[in-house]
Amino acid sequence: MEKWKKEYVKSIRDTDNLPDYFSELNFREIRQVAEKYPFFANRYYVELASKHPEIKSVIIPDKRELEDEKGLEDPLGEERDSPVPGIVHRYPDRVLFLVHNVCPIHCRYCTRKRILGKKVNFGRHTWDKCIEYIKNHKEIFDVLISGGDPLLLNNSDLKYLIENLKKIKHVGLIRIGTRVPSAFPIRIDNDLITLLSNFLPIYINIHFVHPAEITREVENACLSLSGAGIILGAQIVLLKGINDDPGILKVLLKKLLNIGVKPYAIFHPDNTKGTSHFRLDIEKGISIIHSLRGYISGMAIPHYMVDLYPGGGKVEICYNYIKSRKGDTYGIENYKGELFEYR
Ligand code: SF4
Repeated sequence: MEKWKKEYVKSIRDTDNLPDYFSELNFREIRQVAEKYPFFANRYYVELASKHPEIKSVIIPDKRELEDEKGLEDPLGEERDSPVPGIVHRYPDRVLFLVHNVCPIHCRYCTRKRILGKKVNFGRHTWDKCIEYIKNHKEIFDVLISGGDPLLLNNSDLKYLIENLKKIKHVGLIRIGTRVPSAFPIRIDNDLITLLSNFLPIYINIHFVHPAEITREVENACLSLSGAGIILGAQIVLLKGINDDPGILKVLLKKLLNIGVKPYAIFHPDNTKGTSHFRLDIEKGISIIHSLRGYISGMAIPHYMVDLYPGGGKVEICYNYIKSRKGDTYGIENYKGELFEYR
């Protein structure tokens, strides 16, 4: 058995094992929450969170999950836009291909909280129908493989998927959405890198939320992937109490560039049932991103995105720098808040 699999089977599912790492928690409450929304995390991330309380709430169940009356089970309306199980086809030339629901950790704020830890019937029999759908829809250029986490598939299954997608002539872009390099870096081994590098160009979007996640192991994993020619981007979720602070984000964004990962998008948290305590006002999000612009490299600034319910799609939300217009003269503010006339 590969090293990463040996490690993965030692992941913690039972909250009764958590006192070894976090003695201060209320375990009766945690157990109650985990009955509805299962706890799961590999030991690497549990150990990291035990040393960095700033990321503890990424994985530790919270009683507010059960008190949430505003959230929705399927906040993006994905099931409405699913022509075959496993495919979400919302935009003209793009599909989301959900390949399974296994993750390196259960992020408590996950948009797909409704399926985490549940038995879902994924496998080659469902993938073949998805591939057939993509084959029959010539308008599809961009396939985002996600889940769950595609990088937790066996190498042979991952190869099967990518190989079959690469054979479809109209598919020009294959992206993988993953939490593995940031939350379970041991999985990024030589066999996986060789496999992926046989299918260049390939894009990987890695989910990060906090600079504490950028450890030596994560740095090595990302540098090995980019060294093999794989193009890396970061997807961040803006979360109240974890990273809704310009100082924390600045450190995260700069560290990402240091390890060869271009910050691509920062998502406003979706209105998922059980996650309202992570949500913040959009105005606060705009002001955080605005406060970064001009003060760190433009390369470090991700697009701030809101995903509209139900099924409205992603929209970039930006600070409005245009303050006035008279004829062909605009009043435009710079990053310091100074106003300039621009003709
Ligand atoms: S890794 Fe992604 S899909 Fe899995 S729980 Fe975290 S956010 Fe959800």
